[in-house]
Amino acid sequence: MFLTISTSGDAADPATDLGYLLHKHPGKVQRFSTSYGTAHVFYPEADDARCTAALLLETDPAALIRRAKGKGRGGAPDAALAQYVNDRPYAASSLLAVALSGVFSSAIRGVCAARPERAAAPLPLRIEVPALPARGGAALVRRLFEPLGWTVDAEPVPLDTEFPQWGDSRYVRLVLESETLTLAAALRHLYVLLPVLDDAKHYWVSADEVDKLLRAGEGWLPGHPEQQLITSRYLSRRWSLTRQAREALELVRLAEADDSEVEEIDNAVGEETEAEEKPTPLAVRRREAIVTALRASGAARVLDLGCGQGQLVQELLKDARFTEIVGVDVSVRALTIASRRLKLDRMGERQASRVRLVQGSLAYTDKRLKGYDAAVLSEVIEHLDLPRLPALEYAVFGHARPRTVVVTTPNVEYNVRWETLPAGHVRHGDHRFEWTRAEFRDWAATVAERHGYDVEFAPVGPDDPEVGPPTQLALFTRTTEKEAKAA
Ligand code: SAH
Repeated sequence: MFLTISTSGDAADPATDLGYLLHKHPGKVQRFSTSYGTAHVFYPEADDARCTAALLLETDPAALIRRAKGKGRGGAPDAALAQYVNDRPYAASSLLAVALSGVFSSAIRGVCAARPERAAAPLPLRIEVPALPARGGAALVRRLFEPLGWTVDAEPVPLDTEFPQWGDSRYVRLVLESETLTLAAALRHLYVLLPVLDDAKHYWVSADEVDKLLRAGEGWLPGHPEQQLITSRYLSRRWSLTRQAREALELVRLAEADDSEVEEIDNAVGEETEAEEKPTPLAVRRREAIVTALRASGAARVLDLGCGQGQLVQELLKDARFTEIVGVDVSVRALTIASRRLKLDRMGERQASRVRLVQGSLAYTDKRLKGYDAAVLSEVIEHLDLPRLPALEYAVFGHARPRTVVVTTPNVEYNVRWETLPAGHVRHGDHRFEWTRAEFRDWAATVAERHGYDVEFAPVGPDDPEVGPPTQLALFTRTTEKEAKAA
């Protein structure tokens, strides 16, 4: 994966200032390790008149896959091979964007103590990406970059030069030129738009991706004619995140309309590389995804069904929009631990009035659960024997009937990716079953249909191209509610 950034200059404003702006010395070849391999930065040319910096990312397929390979498990050998033999090492993708933001983290923020005036001013720029996977082709590449002030040359790469009759590949050779942009703006455009064009997978999509997108998109994304496409592709078409980002962008646009002052970006856009080396625990991601979905649903009174030791309840308490939070569990022991975790006995009156823990079984209808805005079943359904599941289904969707229900459960297909899990085992001793994505979707679709809900799905954790994410999430919305809203 390769990209070059060039600028031109003269004796007064030498092109080699690019080295200051990128915080990388033109005389050196530098290496940086990322979680996906090694990034190299070097300068094929560097004098007063012209200076070109090259970023080369050598991906390490093994690091990329992050899995226990072989060892007699992990699916068909062909499928395993496909993970190693793919275009990732060559094509400029979201990985290149992540490397870019990591290696040039100061530049992307426009920080340059040595040449502050040059960092703040537009400079002549030429950016070349020899192999850019572009779903949507050259036409989309132009629609994305031209509104930002780039002159775009996007030439489709033939599938095989010896056999022109085979037509074009999905790659383009991209050359961008501009005289009107700062280096920081240019880098931010690439950071967002490379993964948007790649559209295969933006690694580790999580709730904070929205913040990253907003920060990187500051000053250009709110007014972009393809804002919708950019937002939904960048966030891998994740419904709740996409909606949240759109709302936030709308607010930014409104704010910018009456305040033209450029805001200081003090939060690094470029900390992915580091952060991604220590992935957030899955349980944390799950809670983030659930809280995000609940916020987007507008719920204030929330049931956490099968709340276990109360981690989600604790998370919900931090956000004042959740005015009533009820944790329900069949296990008194779990509730005792939850109560200790929440320090219920020492809580101020105001806070205590927002939260309640109740003991009860989800296999029976319960009047106490009626009238709430939303219910969460986080990693609970798989703890019931399959024959008991219809009872829970009726108690929640038929009887309690909150407007929104969020259900998460393991995706059994992902189990081959857990290094420590012996083949054919479930993740937890008390799991009575674990479902594939198709099985979960079937169940959810049937439940939705039977009880008058719409259902949407989202991955939680890294969405593996072959086996999907470790956790699957379904968001149910009562159909009548949707209709009422639309009316
Ligand atoms: N929601 C928590 C805990 C999941 S563990 C989390 O996401 O981390 C599953 C929980 O469901 C356990 O606490 C278990 O006691 C509870 N549970 C299992 N069967 C139940 C039932 N029939 N009624 C209520 N809770 C149940």
